[in-house]
Amino acid sequence: MNNKLTTLVLAVSVIGSVLLCSCDAATAVQTTTEPTEETTTTTTTEATTTAPRWETEVPEENPKDTTPYEKITLDGDKTSTFVSTDFCYIESEKYVLLLDRDIKLPGDFVTNVDAIISEIEGELGVSACPSDFSYNTIPDLSIYYDKKDEDGNIINPWEDWDIGAKIPIFLVTDREDKARISCASYDFTIICDYALFSDDLWNSIPSYKNNGWRRSKYVDYSSIAHELTHTITLRHCDQTNILCEGIAQYMGKKIVDKLAKDYPSINECLKGYNWDESNIPQKVNAKNAEKIFIDDYHSLSHADRGAEYYFGHHFWQYLFENYGDDAFVKYNNKMHMEKIKYNQSNYDENTVKEIAGIFKELYGDDIFSKFGDWCVKKNYLQNKNY
Ligand SMILES: [Zn+2]
Repeated sequence: MNNKLTTLVLAVSVIGSVLLCSCDAATAVQTTTEPTEETTTTTTTEATTTAPRWETEVPEENPKDTTPYEKITLDGDKTSTFVSTDFCYIESEKYVLLLDRDIKLPGDFVTNVDAIISEIEGELGVSACPSDFSYNTIPDLSIYYDKKDEDGNIINPWEDWDIGAKIPIFLVTDREDKARISCASYDFTIICDYALFSDDLWNSIPSYKNNGWRRSKYVDYSSIAHELTHTITLRHCDQTNILCEGIAQYMGKKIVDKLAKDYPSINECLKGYNWDESNIPQKVNAKNAEKIFIDDYHSLSHADRGAEYYFGHHFWQYLFENYGDDAFVKYNNKMHMEKIKYNQSNYDENTVKEIAGIFKELYGDDIFSKFGDWCVKKNYLQNKNY
């Protein structure tokens, strides 16, 4: 936990305006064939925003449309493997994969990520690359790298590269076993998945090599869908903790469930998934659902975080299943119409109440009590465990 916090603090200090936070308790845990008491191999995490996007200006100084690193293409075959020996990138229609060294990609990785993004767009009814978003050049995430130039400075391989509206998806390793985790913001998606580390890298680090249970055999496409949902939805509007982690968690499951039948590698990643709901501090019912939504679990310590994932997951599930496929579109439109902006990292009760008011306007004043009744009836969010 301390290592994780350290990593995240470092990330915050480098990324600057974008605040990352994490919640290891709130993960879709992918178990290995030899489960132990600590079976977390890949984790999903969070993203927050600090500024409204639809009114900001592009602050580019010297945008570049090139990078010195090699462009790679994959062959689409799930049984083939590409291993990066230097920084390199893969370009697709809506994103660019930015590879660290020692990343191992199955040949169908791009095919699967393409499908995930299309599915997110279809399910949510929004574009991954909205025209009203102000795009920055690729942010400096050199904190994740250790390659140095001749002066001993860490190289930022993608410095100022302008990829327009495409999502920069960083595929990173963790050479020092700092418990780095996947995360996202409106500006980028970062994927740190042990299954994507090269075998040479894995075997060169004792804390990995001697603990094979830490590494899943399967790429965690559910986490990738979770993080991409963050980036895509945050390009449209701000969200509370519950709404942000909830929509990502809901989509992380929904997308892999939908794609599994047509995408064998996505199907494989479903094996062993456990959608644990044990971290709910208070059973949810008609009387307390609105209060919990407004509280947004903002005072939970990092170690206890997780409830916002589960509450949010079921809240979005309730809306989509009972009120139609346009639940996010309606929320997004209202946020824009009423010009509501919210910084997740700085809890503000009045703004969260305004956001709760959006759902009341859309679905009726009793929307939260109806949601609470639904939770009790379905036995969701009833598993208080601490
Ligand atoms: Zn998240």
